Amino acid sequence: MPSSAIPTNQQPQTPNFARKPATSPAQRVLSAQRAAEMSREGRMYGMAERTGGSPIVIVGGGVAGGNAAATLREEGFAGPVVIIGQEPGVPFGRPPLSKTYLRSEEDLAGWYVRPADWYAKHDVDLRRGPSAAALDPAAHTVILGSGEELRYHKVLIATGGRNRRLKIPGASLPGVHYLRTLADCDAIKREAAPNRRAVVVGMGFIGCEVAASLTQLGVRVTAVFPGRAPLERVLGGEIGALIGAIHRANGVELLAGDQVAAFAGAERLEAVVTAAGQRIACDFAVVGAGIDPDVPAVRGSSIAQDNGILADELCRTSAADVYVAGDVANHLHPLFGRIRVEHFNNAEKQGAAAARSMLGSAAPYDYIHSFWSDQYEHKIEYVGHAATWDEFVVRGSLDEGKLVGFYLRDGFVTAAVGLDRGGDPELDHDGEMAASARLVASRARPAGGLLTDEHADLWSLALGA
Ligand SMILES: Cc1cc2nc3c(=O)[nH]c(=O)nc-3n(C[C@H](O)[C@H](O)[C@H](O)COP(=O)(O)OP(=O)(O)OC[C@H]3O[C@@H](n4cnc5c(N)ncnc54)[C@H](O)[C@@H]3O)c2cc1C
Repeated sequence: MPSSAIPTNQQPQTPNFARKPATSPAQRVLSAQRAAEMSREGRMYGMAERTGGSPIVIVGGGVAGGNAAATLREEGFAGPVVIIGQEPGVPFGRPPLSKTYLRSEEDLAGWYVRPADWYAKHDVDLRRGPSAAALDPAAHTVILGSGEELRYHKVLIATGGRNRRLKIPGASLPGVHYLRTLADCDAIKREAAPNRRAVVVGMGFIGCEVAASLTQLGVRVTAVFPGRAPLERVLGGEIGALIGAIHRANGVELLAGDQVAAFAGAERLEAVVTAAGQRIACDFAVVGAGIDPDVPAVRGSSIAQDNGILADELCRTSAADVYVAGDVANHLHPLFGRIRVEHFNNAEKQGAAAARSMLGSAAPYDYIHSFWSDQYEHKIEYVGHAATWDEFVVRGSLDEGKLVGFYLRDGFVTAAVGLDRGGDPELDHDGEMAASARLVASRARPAGGLLTDEHADLWSLALGA
């Protein structure tokens, strides 16, 4: 789930930073309750945008699409709203698919963007199953796979990403799995019995989390990945080495610096063959090789694209009345420049921001990006954005594996990572990771040594920036 940056000539500005509201699943339900209160108070549907009868159409019923619909209603939009979602079920968050749901520790209800009956109660036409085959911006229509043409007033593209598939011998053998959807996850669950052998291909976030969960389920896991350490590209060598040590300590065999050259087997997967010539016998494999933005086809005029659909600070694309949010959006961030983010918090907040933009808000989308990853009992939290950095300094202890690490460029704090320390920047509002988000937002350049000095208060450093 790494994010990638495209350089921009635009001069970054310091965005307005407000500490973000809590967004745990329970609190998201509270938000729905608040919507119900607003409805009773008569505030809901108070504002009617003139739509000429055509709906606001949301293509993609994931976290971004679901939050856009919820925000339209909570902001008082009274017109018709349609979600075209090709997956069955209601919009939900995917994080448990590599963690708690995969391990059968929770169902998905707590991860629904809104409770299942919310859509009908709020006149949101949630169409599950159909896919949008194409968009025609000039005609203001979405063409469904069935051929039906749906005219829109405004449209949000929230189609997310699709897994990069390996094109190597044996790639279509039964037993080779990818993970994005609930169906993908259920298929992996059926394989994950104690003492079975799995190969995890790639040790980015999905690979790491799946390796951890399978290990916790008693599966014997071998991980094959390029580079020296898991997550090294996103988090750097120091944190990568710690994550690698955590996996090894839990029994995962790590084959670093190698890649899968073929899947072998007669009827189904029996072994993974690596480029270095290793043959790893296994019962199944899970590939986590990253995603590509899932850009729908466009007819007539075009929509500007470059590693996803390009958006400005208001989530607008190059086509009139076409907006974009979530994993598919390559947006212009006031602080980070062009950036496409593949994380839950962005999908949630950008979906909402795009909805507000559709309703006429002129507030730029300036969220200080953050994400988390859970592996075994360990928690990784990250704020900001650092595709590259020239210094990495640590508050806490690399040896003990409890730390907040800061990514610096020319002395400026551009990102921070918390490993088992610092709290959730979205929930622990007084914590070190929340303070780190403030440091990033304020373009802080603390004097040497202060970031690593346990006695120096991070909030003071941020506020003094
Ligand atoms: C297993 C897993 C675990 C994750 N864990 C974390 C985590 O711990 N922390 C974190 O920050 N992030 C995590 N993520 C990333 C996070 O889930 C994504 O960033 C988020 O789902 C993006 O939301 P989205 O709405 O942009 O896209 P998606 O969730 O991909 O939703 C897009 C939807 O659009 C649909 N669609 C696509 N094309 C069409 C079409 N033409 N017509 C109709 N519908 C279409 C898709 O089927 C899909 O339902 C995880 C992702 C996965 C897969």
